[in-house]
Order: sequence, then C-alpha cells, then structure tokens
Amino acid sequence: QGKNNLRPRFLRCLLSTMSSTHQPPRVPNLIGGSFVDSQASSHIDVINPATQEVVSQVPLTTNEEFKAAVSAAKQAFPSWRNTPITTRQRVMLKFQELIRKNMDKLALNITTEQGKTLKDAHGDIFRGLEVVEHACGMATLQMGEYVPNVSNGVDTYSVREPLGVCAGICPFNFPAMIPLWMFPIAVTCGNTFVLKPSEKDPGASVMLAELAMEAGLPNGVLNIVHGTNDTVNAICDDDNIRAVSFVGSNTAGMHIYARAAAKGKRIQSNMGAKNHGVVLPDANVDATLNALLAAGFGAAGQRCMALSTVVFVGSSKPWEDKLVERAKALKVTCGTEPDADLGPVISKQAKERICRLIQSGVDDGAKLLLDGRNIVVPGYEKGNFIGPTILSGVTADMECYKEEIFGPVLVCMEASSFDEAIDILNRNKYGNGAAIFTASGAAARKFQMEIEAGQIGINVPIPVPLPFFSFTGNKASFAGDLNFYGKAGVDFFTQIKTVTQQWKDIPTSVSLAMPTSQ
Ligand code: NAD
Repeated sequence: QGKNNLRPRFLRCLLSTMSSTHQPPRVPNLIGGSFVDSQASSHIDVINPATQEVVSQVPLTTNEEFKAAVSAAKQAFPSWRNTPITTRQRVMLKFQELIRKNMDKLALNITTEQGKTLKDAHGDIFRGLEVVEHACGMATLQMGEYVPNVSNGVDTYSVREPLGVCAGICPFNFPAMIPLWMFPIAVTCGNTFVLKPSEKDPGASVMLAELAMEAGLPNGVLNIVHGTNDTVNAICDDDNIRAVSFVGSNTAGMHIYARAAAKGKRIQSNMGAKNHGVVLPDANVDATLNALLAAGFGAAGQRCMALSTVVFVGSSKPWEDKLVERAKALKVTCGTEPDADLGPVISKQAKERICRLIQSGVDDGAKLLLDGRNIVVPGYEKGNFIGPTILSGVTADMECYKEEIFGPVLVCMEASSFDEAIDILNRNKYGNGAAIFTASGAAARKFQMEIEAGQIGINVPIPVPLPFFSFTGNKASFAGDLNFYGKAGVDFFTQIKTVTQQWKDIPTSVSLAMPTSQ
C-alpha cells in the first residue's frame, strides 16, 4: 500500500456518507510520520450506531507494527526534547488554529462513528481544544525552582524534564477530547507519544494526528496504533514506554494499572463513575430540572460525568412528575438531524446491557416512570436508540444503582434528610463527580466539605474543570496520583532533575563527612 496516498483517501471516505457500493476504508496507523495500512490479518468494523452502516475498518495492529511505532517514538525523542520549548509551543498554537478550522469535519466524523449529536460533538472537540490552548503556555507551566546560596557559594535548582516515550489508551465516549487530554500535554513537555484510540471510533484521533503533523509536529513524535487488548498489553509491557495515560472502564483501567506498574511505569487511570445530584427542597425548580435533564440524558448518558443518580431530599414526587414531562419532550434521533437531543448508544451490546439494567431495576422493585426501551426512530429503525428512562424509588442495594449504566437512564432516590443524602453518596465506591442544587450557601459548603468525590458542582451539574485545573476524580474513579491536565498533568509527563552547583574561588580542604550546609 502506498503510504502517503492513504491519508487523503481515508479522510475523504470518512467524511462522505458511506454508500453500500464502496469498500469501507481501512483506518491507517501512524508510524514515524507516515499513515500506513496495517498488515493485520484481522480488522474490526467501525459501525455508525444510528444506521449500522460500516464506516471503516480498524486493524488489530501486528506486534511488528507496534514495535515500529515505539521505535519511531524512541528515535524522535532526543531531537524533540532538545527542540526549544517556544518552538514546541508554536506547534500547539498552529494545531489549535487547525482544529478550529476543521471543527465541522471532526464533528461529523464523531457523530458518524460515535452517535452523539453534532452540537455535542462540537463540545467534545472544544473541551479538547482548551487543553491544546493550555499547552501553548507550557514554558511557564513546566518551570523549575531555584534556591540560591543553600550553602556558601552553592545554589540548588530543579528542572522538569520529559520522560521519553509515553502512551495513551482511549475510551469510545469522547473521541476527540480524551486524545487531546493526553498527547498535546505530553509532547509539548518534550515527550514522544504512542496513542491507541478506541477501536469503536478511531477516526477523530487519526484526523487530529493529521492536523498535528500539518501544524509542524516532526515525524515520530506522535504515533498511532489501533487494536484492542493485545495492543494495550503490548503498551503495558514495553520497556521503552515510560508512562501510560488511560481513560475507560474499571475492568480495563485496573488491569492496565497493575500490568504497567509491574513494569515500573507511571500511570494515570481515569475510570468509571456513578455521579449523584442532590436536590434540596429550596433548589430553583426550573434551573434544577434543566440541569438534571441535560446531565442525565446528554450524550445519551455516555459521559463519565453524567449525573446518572438523583437524590431528592424530602418528597421526590413533585420533582419526578416534572422531570418525566420534560424528558418526554426530548427528541431522540440520529445525531446529524438538526433537532436531535439524544443520539443512539454506541453498540447493540451496550443497548442490550442498558435494557437489562433497566429491567433489573423493575425486578428489584423500582418504579419505571418513563421507559425508553422500545423507541422506534423513523428513518433510523436499525439504530441503537434508547429514549430517556426514569427509574424511581431506587435503593442502594439494587443492581441498577450499583452498576454504572452508561445510558440515558436517570435513577431517582429519596432521602429523608440532607445527612442521609450525604451518607448515600459517600457509601458509593465511585468518586468522579457530585452536584448539589440548593439556594443555601451553608448547605452547599457542608456538601463541598463532606462529600468524598473529586469534582463538586454547586448548582452546576457537570463540574468538569477547565485545563488550568485538573480532572480530579477519586476513589474507584481514578488510580494513580497525578491527574489529567493542569499542573498535575504537566507533573505526570515530566520528571524532576535537581542540580546543586558550587562556584567559588576559595580553596577547599578534603572532608569525607556527609556535606552539610555551611
Ligand atoms: P473500555 O474500558 O471498554 O475501553 C477503553 C480502552 O481500553 C479501549 O481503548 C479498549 O480497547 C481498551 N480495553 C478494553 N478492555 C480491555 C481489556 N480487558 N484489556 C486491555 N484493554 C482493554 O471503556 P469504554 O467502554 O470505551 O469507555 C467507557 C468507560 O470509560 C466508562 O466506564 C466511563 O465512565 C469511562 N470514562 C471515564 C472517564 C474519566 O475521566 N473518569 C472519561 C471517559 C470515560
């Protein structure tokens, strides 16, 4: 296969609506600056979840190709780490400009492969773009420290240096934002990178990589290998890879955390969630209902910060009646339709799992106030659609509460007091985000102080911090100690070197004792 011909062909095919008479394009790997067709014997179909059309085919990269990608990253490292930080920043400046210019194309690809609405796909890209913008200020973000005269004529300073080859493993639900959480910070710190996109929607990663190359990223600094478990395990095991960023489920995340740590790598692993919203009786009715709808059903509930559980303090009935009324008005259809509120879920298997968890709630005694399982979407009858679903009277022992549903299902609970609500949240194993809706500053402050979750929203349903802070999930939602982006993100992709220097003209005498400050 001609290496450089693949790029335009791949993108052209991805961007046009697939016709059944065309062979689906094969998604290329990116190795050492060339987009190359894999020699893999097996490929996975990337499927449009609204239509079941095969958009493209993603390879299960061979071991030789994986090694070639790591080797390209290793070779590119010495000169990239010595490239002035101002030059590296300028690549990011150009990259952010190109992302803005290509926003519509990227969004169409995301909607085609992942299913979310076009508007939501723009949000997916924009939240990643903000990380690229942040990386443009890397010179100040990665500054070291200096203490003069720690002893007579002796100064100590520290510098933050890149690690070498780093890798990222991505989930399906944010095909642009999550790769952009990873490689822009890593490479602007001076590292080189091997990215493994989700096999379910790899197109945005390839398009972003193409833009990054156009922005001036040298060959080998960013590489892409596609695949599933074997490629992930190869990343964990490879001695040349120094750090792994992972976002996805707990099953994969804890496996990667253990396997890569056994090889001495640093790991940041963002995992599953069950985010609760606590609604106090004094909350603003309209604003709270809109927030619950947006955060529960947006992206068809497939966000790690979706507010999937609501705990009403006091009677839930008046709230639930209004929620059902408003949820019924949401439009479920293909994400490219202009009036779409919710698109499909990612796969037939995901739909089956979500429907099973809804049924388990009913079987366990919850009340199904709104059932989205049997929805038929005209024109998209084959799509994996589930309409907004509301389960009421849910208790903490039910499977539909304990499991992350990852679909458009709002689980409603009642607490007789604020303290009981806090207790419910803190008993949950996850700790990604939590939100409170109230008019009381004192209640909000108590919530902020007592809730064991990493990201707190006060009248804000999805409190995902902008990149000058970090994405700070905790408990079972995160493993590692340095979070994504912000100061912690820069710390993750750099190691500290501390230099002690002595410049003085007086003669010294020999002493074999441990040096102390004089
Ligand atoms: P997933 O764990 O199935 O897949 C994520 C990545 O891991 C993919 O690249 C996949 O190929 C790989 N993978 C999957 N199983 C593996 C295994 N057994 N061994 C090795 N590699 C494996 O996750 P997903 O379904 O793509 O994404 C949804 C999950 O991601 C949800 O749990 C969601 O909460 C979570 N998520 C978390 C955050 C966060 O920041 N905390 C953000 C987005 C998504």
